[in-house]
Amino acid sequence: LTAILGYSELLTGTDENDPLKLKRYSLTIHDNVLRLIEIVDDLLLLSKIETGEFLQKTTFSIQDLFNELEELYKQKLVQKKIQWLTSLENSSMTLYADKFRIRQMLINLVDNAIKFSHEEGSIHLRAKKEKKGILLTIQDNGIGIPFIDQERIFERFYQVDKARSSHSEGTGLGLSIVKHIVEQHQGNVSVESHLGKGSIFSIYLPQSIEET
Ligand code: ADP
Repeated sequence: LTAILGYSELLTGTDENDPLKLKRYSLTIHDNVLRLIEIVDDLLLLSKIETGEFLQKTTFSIQDLFNELEELYKQKLVQKKIQWLTSLENSSMTLYADKFRIRQMLINLVDNAIKFSHEEGSIHLRAKKEKKGILLTIQDNGIGIPFIDQERIFERFYQVDKARSSHSEGTGLGLSIVKHIVEQHQGNVSVESHLGKGSIFSIYLPQSIEET
């Protein structure tokens, strides 16, 4: 908001015969408005999730959900020449959960995996049956996360360092939304990552006997 105010003041004081400056200032305002919209959208989503509306649980196919995500990100994957892989213990695996929120959670993780991957990288989504639940993992071979930051990335607004995400912006809210959704399902999320090698996010979602 401060940047928008500053640049709009500059704009009003700029000579109308200086089109280059006029253009530069209005583009900066435009970019900052887009960023603000992104932050407000994420904050609204987070507060909607936090107000704890009841989960609307249904049984749905994990493979179908992975396919939906591939479809959603097709363009970005092609642009960055990223390979998309999925492995399920068996193709008919289902999850009993709030599909809308689980989709949102995976969107945030896949979005990051693409953002922090190099060209020609790969993203691998897996689903595995555990003793009392399902384990989903999202693996990339991108830039990785420094060990000291790994504990804090799930905090609101936490970003590892501005410089490395400046090319892709972001709000620092994505992973706190992920954590919230997982906890609402009584699950847990963890990360294993090595700088320069990539990251694996693991989500464990308990399923009661009748659900599996
Ligand atoms: P952002 O909007 O910045 O992506 P997130 O809460 O989703 O916010 O992530 C917090 C930070 O964690 C990011 O800024 C990034 O530095 C780091 N991060 C998240 N996912 C990955 C990933 N797959 N690879 C490397 N770094 C990641």
